[in-house]
Amino acid sequence: MLIGAHVSPAGGLPKAIERGVERGCRAIQIFNQSPRTWKPTSYGDADVAAFREAMAASEIDAVLIHAVYLLNCASEDADIRVKSIASLTHSLRVGEQIGASAVVLHPGSAKTGDVPSAIARAGEAILEALAESGHCPLHLENTAGTGGTLGRSIDELAQLLDACGGHERVGLCLDSCHLFASGYDIRTAVGVAGVVGEVSAKVGVERLGSLHLNDSQTSLGANRDRHANIGEGELGEPGCAAFLSEPAFQALPCVLETPGVQRSGPSAEEVAFAMTLRERGLAAR
Ligand SMILES: [Zn+2]
Ligand SMILES: [Zn+2]
Repeated sequence: MLIGAHVSPAGGLPKAIERGVERGCRAIQIFNQSPRTWKPTSYGDADVAAFREAMAASEIDAVLIHAVYLLNCASEDADIRVKSIASLTHSLRVGEQIGASAVVLHPGSAKTGDVPSAIARAGEAILEALAESGHCPLHLENTAGTGGTLGRSIDELAQLLDACGGHERVGLCLDSCHLFASGYDIRTAVGVAGVVGEVSAKVGVERLGSLHLNDSQTSLGANRDRHANIGEGELGEPGCAAFLSEPAFQALPCVLETPGVQRSGPSAEEVAFAMTLRERGLAAR
């Protein structure tokens, strides 16, 4: 398992590698542009080359791009839909440029509308973005199930994958906080294995592409997306250790998106702690 953290690329793409190295990461995740604006950031060849060079010289073996939060591929609003497809396409192109393992995407929201038609719209939008971009994979992230967000269950992820025609570039990113908040009790190895079993049966375990490790501030099934620092939430240390030591997860990148101390994001100490918890979990199996 390549454990690491979400880091900022502020100051240029190679800075993201620098921040990952400072935190002892084996994997990093970045936003390819400001997460709360539509304005795309374009990277020049020199920046991309410097990024690739820095990554090759580091212990970081995987980079994920998180698509921006404004995207809603399931939107009924024509303007938002067009912007969402353009932004996702741009993220996938940047992913191609920098050799990302995948772009991670929140599948979208039905808002207050009908879920099956929202899933169909999301699938069409995702297929358009895939058609407009090279080869970079796309990982649909499971959600905490707040409001009309799509991807709250393995069943919904399977329906989304179907809506994408089972496209070969589409995989899954499982977030531990979101799983717990949407009602999956993953506080034990048996609980995590249950999720993997459901993924195997409904999606195919080979679609598992990446992981987010976050503890949860809110309780099981609360449908609220509130990340806690590792070991400090409802999952606790045993829950995080169970997630990290799941056999089906061992070849995947796994990044922390925790608030950190004073909301500065995951620290080197926390990344190291996650690595320790993984060892602890493996020893307990
Ligand atoms: Zn996440
Ligand atoms: Zn979250």
